[in-house]
Amino acid sequence: MGIVIENLPKLLDPIPGGSKLINTVDYIANWARSNSIWPLVYGTSCCAIEMMSTGSSKHDWARFGWEVARATPRQADLIILAGTIVEKMADPLRRLYDQMPAPKYVIAMGACTISGGPFFYDNYSVVKGADHIIPVDVYIPGCPPRPEALLYGIMELQKIMCKETIRETRKKEINAVPSIDAMTVAVQEWEAELKGKEAGLKEEAKKYKEENPDYKPFKQPRKIVEKFEKVERVIHPEVGKPKTELFEKLLNQFPFLTLYDKEETNMETVEAMKADEILDFILPTDQYIPVINFVKKNADFQMDLLLVVTAVDWLDHYDVIVQLTSTTFKHKLFFRTPIPKDDDIPEIESLSQIYPTANWHERETYDFFGIDFKGHPDLRRIFLWEGFEGYPLRKDFKHPEIIARPY
Ligand code: SF4
Repeated sequence: MGIVIENLPKLLDPIPGGSKLINTVDYIANWARSNSIWPLVYGTSCCAIEMMSTGSSKHDWARFGWEVARATPRQADLIILAGTIVEKMADPLRRLYDQMPAPKYVIAMGACTISGGPFFYDNYSVVKGADHIIPVDVYIPGCPPRPEALLYGIMELQKIMCKETIRETRKKEINAVPSIDAMTVAVQEWEAELKGKEAGLKEEAKKYKEENPDYKPFKQPRKIVEKFEKVERVIHPEVGKPKTELFEKLLNQFPFLTLYDKEETNMETVEAMKADEILDFILPTDQYIPVINFVKKNADFQMDLLLVVTAVDWLDHYDVIVQLTSTTFKHKLFFRTPIPKDDDIPEIESLSQIYPTANWHERETYDFFGIDFKGHPDLRRIFLWEGFEGYPLRKDFKHPEIIARPY
């Protein structure tokens, strides 16, 4: 059938009246297709809410024949990109587009999709324009664009569709021009220009002072800054077992523990802490597992819920941070374990045998800080793609070059 349609213009155009027939076929086919679009919705962040609103009862894109919005490329002839696209999604997005049957169309909705939006500068993970991955037919600017803007974009796409012809397939290309950080380039140019100007100005000022020895520069009178009354922080009541009790029991068991950011580790320090302050202990690496195991299983602590495992990159070491809470008593405990930066690969034992939920917390910490959790069942990157170089939350992280795509 496809071959017959493709060859129809070659057969009919030379015949008198034949081109009119082709035009009529085009008109009917375009009218039918543009009023019966099945969109594949690709909503990744805030813009997706506006897209959903466009499909719901108030705006109702079904009035345009745009029905059956689904999250699948099956029978979809339009993909609406609504939200930030990160590098890890780039390949799956391209795959979805390739799986859509032709003829197919793309609407890029919102600043993030069009150019990376607010994430354009200093960002290692956001695609700076969907058109670097797939060809885009309609761009809808805004952050986010309102549903009316999407409806307008839909109507613009209908106009594009109505101009198509079976005589030739419209060529669509992806944007091969690499994204340039125009702001950084401009700042560098301004700085260079300013340096030249400043040298000239200094010379002029010196000359003027010599010619006018009585000249006194104008001094701006000091502005009196209004002072506001200090607002005291609201102290929330203590939750769970008293800190003093937890501190005493834990120190009896593990006397080597010290309190983070406190001069002394003793009962007076704990008593002086504010009611809503949380005990934050420094834990040596070799006692990491025994202490965490103890507070989880001991009946006085029952720290059964792992809130987070993360890290902090200090100049000379990493801190692996573990925050725990007890769902029975409601109190919390924080632990931090310093790992020196001497080793190439900083490592610590995995908590995944004690808290199964540590699995993805540790993968995230590995992904962003490069900390190796020994004994983790599946230590792979979780947000960034395999092959990404570096660990973006480390202080020595350098932004990678713009990614070369194979499309
Ligand atoms: S363009 Fe604005 S509203 Fe849309 S996804 Fe980006 S940040 Fe969110």
